[in-house]
Amino acid sequence: MTTITLDDGSPRTLPRHEEIAGSNCGTPGVWHFAAPQPGPRIVLTALVHGNEVCGAEAAWWAVQQAPRPRAGSLTVVFCNLAAYERLDDGTKGDCRLVDEDMNRVWGRVDPQAGPSDTTELRRAREILPHVAEADVLLDLHSMTEAAPALGLVGRAPKNLDFARRLGFPGLLVQDAGHAAGLRLIDRPPYGDPTAAAQAMLVECGAHFSPAAFEAAHAVVGRLLASFLHGENAVSEPQTVIEVTEAVTIRSDDFEFTQDWPNMGCVTEAGTLVARDGGVEVRTPGDNTFLIMPASARFRRPGLTAVRFGRRVA
Ligand SMILES: [Zn+2]
Repeated sequence: MTTITLDDGSPRTLPRHEEIAGSNCGTPGVWHFAAPQPGPRIVLTALVHGNEVCGAEAAWWAVQQAPRPRAGSLTVVFCNLAAYERLDDGTKGDCRLVDEDMNRVWGRVDPQAGPSDTTELRRAREILPHVAEADVLLDLHSMTEAAPALGLVGRAPKNLDFARRLGFPGLLVQDAGHAAGLRLIDRPPYGDPTAAAQAMLVECGAHFSPAAFEAAHAVVGRLLASFLHGENAVSEPQTVIEVTEAVTIRSDDFEFTQDWPNMGCVTEAGTLVARDGGVEVRTPGDNTFLIMPASARFRRPGLTAVRFGRRVA
């Protein structure tokens, strides 16, 4: 067992790397449960980032249930096993990746796109047959800074329908992904508005907060209840925020004017939120949400400092 210390000082025992790296279908870290009757193919992914462990715990809980879908299948995939293997309580924030961000490789993962030159690309190719063709994909993540759980649903309305069927999380963000590379939820068929397949990425909360573990279990419980057992979950009221603008860092001298809370709402248009070299960065409208302001160690020219959003539902 791997025991880590959560933000509130409490110990949390996580599934061991060797446990989750097992398999009942031949691919390490992939667990497949199928009904004899055809039906929706549900895929639950965790550990795309090795330090985002609340999802690993909740997904392992799902495996332990040995679920029996009434129709179709559930596949649970523990993605970046090599990064998770490095998890240690003293350095637990640092095992996000081995060579590169595994949630930016999904546009380069098809074999004809070139050689597999990183740990993450090789692993993405190994699990691709299990994650590429689901009818429903739920991808579990967590965040550096404290925040409520967020569901990222891309731009396609069908993904919003999926989030509404689960009735969780209470905050949903419609965004267009990242210039730095394709996320799993942006890949076709999930990001394709004309295809039926649905996907959501849930940022459960701060990596090592008890609330993130609760959120991960809540969303996995709702996925199993809704898609495997046909139960309708009681919905929380859900707020939908549309990303209107991504602030890309231009200079080596980017500073926020204060510690802006993630998903905080700035009421007044034109509020100064950051200075980038000599350029002022101000909110574009009244009631602008600041989505995932990057902490200092993730701020470099070319990267996203923060995204602005407005409430649309
Ligand atoms: Zn992540």
